[in-house]
Order: sequence, then structure tokens, then C-alpha cells
Amino acid sequence: MKKLRLIINPYTGTMKIQRQLCQVLELFSAAGYESTIYFTQCKGDGTVYTKEHAKDCDLVVCCGGDGTLNEVVSGILDLPADQRPPVGYIPAGTCNDFASSLGISVDVMKAAERAVRGKPTRLDVGRFGSRLFLYIASCGAFTEASYMTPQAAKNSMGHLAYVLQGIGSIKDIKPFRASFRVGDAIYEDDYVFCSVSNSTSIAGIVKLDETLVNLSDGLFEITLVKTPKNIPEILSIVNAIKDKNLNSPMIQLIHASSAVFSGEGTIAWTIDGEYEPGGQGISIENLPGAMEIML
Ligand SMILES: [Mg+2]
Repeated sequence: MKKLRLIINPYTGTMKIQRQLCQVLELFSAAGYESTIYFTQCKGDGTVYTKEHAKDCDLVVCCGGDGTLNEVVSGILDLPADQRPPVGYIPAGTCNDFASSLGISVDVMKAAERAVRGKPTRLDVGRFGSRLFLYIASCGAFTEASYMTPQAAKNSMGHLAYVLQGIGSIKDIKPFRASFRVGDAIYEDDYVFCSVSNSTSIAGIVKLDETLVNLSDGLFEITLVKTPKNIPEILSIVNAIKDKNLNSPMIQLIHASSAVFSGEGTIAWTIDGEYEPGGQGISIENLPGAMEIML
């Protein structure tokens, strides 16, 4: 029998899996897997557990939010390349941005089915300084929303909590001076939002057209939104976001495999929905095809 490790974060989102756990395990058995279950105990535990226990199994299935998946994948990438099992993902967070970008259902049984019967697919992973990100590192407007929103509000209001928190913070948006060095080019300006992403969905607010994004091309999309100084500039940004093409003189969309970020003062970042203190001269790098996920 093949070995499967099911890693569950019991503290995220609605945790629908707890009602369907028996059915999920039965499905895994029917697919030829013997399952071991682990409930993460604290932040970061997913990485520690995965690093210790993933090398002797055929598949790791992660059930939690995007932050939990980040922990699990970070643990797997700490293993030697020939000992890394593929990952299945049962999204159980509040926003599930990354899952929706991958087309993974939020229905527990459908996601479980795909985790064991899907096709192992290689996707790029990002490195932001010493941390990994699966789909986005961002700073500025909206990025505080996901980690500032209390968990209780996230659970009861779901996605709405993020959006409300985002809108509530518009008056608090502080432009910041930042620069990205991409190859020989330097992009420097006063921005209200910057992101480095490998996803069609940015911070749950901006959707990029699917023709602009490839999750396994070794490239990120760097999105830089300049500080608007008047109403036409605000409208230009809003329309570019609405049209999903980010076509605006106020927005730069750069495809790149690496970049170096520097910013004035301390600019807080969000990595896959979790807080990151940021810093100066941060090296951001694409690790092509580093993650193998069941799709
Ligand atoms: Mg890409």
C-alpha cells in the first residue's frame, strides 16, 4: 500500500473536513493509500512535521488555508530533491485565493478526490529573502487586510471580512518610496501597492487575465501601482483592475524571474496571507517547477 500523510490545520477557516474526515479517509483507502493524520499544533508546525515525516511517504495531503499549504511545501522543499513527495491540497481557509487560482474545489470530497487521483503537476515557487511563497508576496494597500482581520471575523464573514478590512484601510494607505531592480532595469517610484505573484488572483482583490499568467514559466508578475495624485489617476487604476489587464500608466506589470526590492523605512509585506517584516535589499527569486501538486 502507498503511504499518505494528511496534515490538517484545525484552526483555519470553517474546517468542514472534520465532519467528513471518515469519508475522506475511505476515499484515500479506495485509491490505494494508507493514511496517517497529523493536526498541526501551532504556527510553523506544518513545516517541522513535513520536513521530518514526508520523506518516507508517497503523497502529502494538506488541509488548511494557503498559509498551511505554504508551511507544508516549505517543509517538502527542505528535503533532498529525490525525496520530495507530491502535495494534494484540500483548501479549508477563508479566502482560498491560491486554490481558486489553481481551480481546486472548496468542496472537501471533490478536493480530496483530486488530491489522490489528480495529475502531479510542477509549479513554480517563489523565494522572498529566506521565506518561500507559493503565489504572492505583496506590500501596501490591502495587504494588511488578511493578517489584521481577526480569525473570528474571517470565519464568520469569510471573504467579506477581507474586503471590508481592505476598504476600511484605504484612508490609512500611506504611499511609500520603493525600488525593484530587475536585471539591468530599476523601477523606482512612490507606490501604494507592490506585489510579486504567480497567480491569477492578487490579494483577493485584483484578478489578472489568465492569458497574462503562467504558473510554471519560471516567471513572476511584478505589479507596481503608483500613488494617484488626482481623480483621473484613481479612475485609471480602478478601471485597469476592473478590466483585469492592468493597462494603465499608473500600473507597471513586469514579468521577471528575479528581482531585488528596497524600500524606504520599514515596509511590512504579506506572504501568502501571512505577515512578513520585509527589509532592505531583499532578493526575490523564482524557483522553477519546485513544487509538485496534484491537479
Ligand atoms: Mg509564472
